[in-house]
Amino acid sequence: MVAGTPCLARIARIVTPDLKTLPKVLLHDHLDGGVRPSTVAELAAGIGYDGLGTVDPEVVAVRLHQGESGSLETYLEAFDHTLAVMQTPEAITRVATEAVEDLAADGVVYAEIRFAPTLHTVGGLNRREVVRAVLDGLHAGSAATGVPAFAILDAMRQDTDSEEIAQLAHTFRGDGVVAFDLAGPERGFPASGHSPACEFVTDRKLHMTLHAGEGDGPASIEDALNCGAERIGHGVRVIEDCTVLDGRITAMGPIASRVHAGQVALEVCPWSNVHTLGIAPGDHPVGLLRDAGFAVTLNTDNRLMSGTSMTAEFTFAVEHHGFTSADFERVTMTAIGAAFCSDGLKDSVRAWIEKGYSAS
Ligand SMILES: [Zn+2]
Repeated sequence: MVAGTPCLARIARIVTPDLKTLPKVLLHDHLDGGVRPSTVAELAAGIGYDGLGTVDPEVVAVRLHQGESGSLETYLEAFDHTLAVMQTPEAITRVATEAVEDLAADGVVYAEIRFAPTLHTVGGLNRREVVRAVLDGLHAGSAATGVPAFAILDAMRQDTDSEEIAQLAHTFRGDGVVAFDLAGPERGFPASGHSPACEFVTDRKLHMTLHAGEGDGPASIEDALNCGAERIGHGVRVIEDCTVLDGRITAMGPIASRVHAGQVALEVCPWSNVHTLGIAPGDHPVGLLRDAGFAVTLNTDNRLMSGTSMTAEFTFAVEHHGFTSADFERVTMTAIGAAFCSDGLKDSVRAWIEKGYSAS
């Protein structure tokens, strides 16, 4: 796995089974991007959905894996299929429950899972019913596994209902919804185009994380910060506001400096970036950002479409950027520090993390 790489000495203590058992905190994971292939197949068969042309789970897995797409737009098309089978409360609750179960089996000790309620209303559900169904599933998954799991509501940048989504987040804030997010295409749809929703969220002291610096450059990150984002979904294109010489960041422009000085948590999703942005694994900026002291967290984004898991993301970080167990502990502590749960729960999770890393 690592033989022959210059990082061998740094990762000598870490092998894949260790990575699986390390405690992990997941801040950026899409519900409709993490459905089990077998569940997609079963739900499709149950409702007679033939958009995939098969109900064979193995073929479904291959068809929905977008590892070679190299384009965000193509990657996003795969969601048409998962969304097609997530239009009833039962299906949505099942997917949410299984998500928590799968994350728990992957060593995740705390999770925030996001979804866009509007995308689940084409079968006749209203947005409130969608949120209720997701929360029922998250609660069931948490009860079964002991892993705290919360929801982030996504409005789509290209849609016009962000204020309704922000209000919905407020309505369910005491029942497991912790934040508001903007997803979808960045270019041509700036966060500031959703200022009323962002102001609603800020005024009510709801939390906010916004996708930015994925499909567009540093100016999109600046726009998201100006809208009140506490964390940045992806944010990796902050590297475009940095000067890199001899494999390290030697200077930062104003946007990178702002992100760095504010220790704004970056929800980095390496495999997703490789798949949608066409970045070679070794050229991903996660190592540079870690070395420069940015508040890096590691996340999955879309476990199904990217064929990934938290363990796979950690493995990526080891193999391509020489992450050590100390790096993973820092990443995980950064993530729980930036989590949107209560301070009391953060303290409990920190204790689990410390225990897990001291035993590794
Ligand atoms: Zn995302």
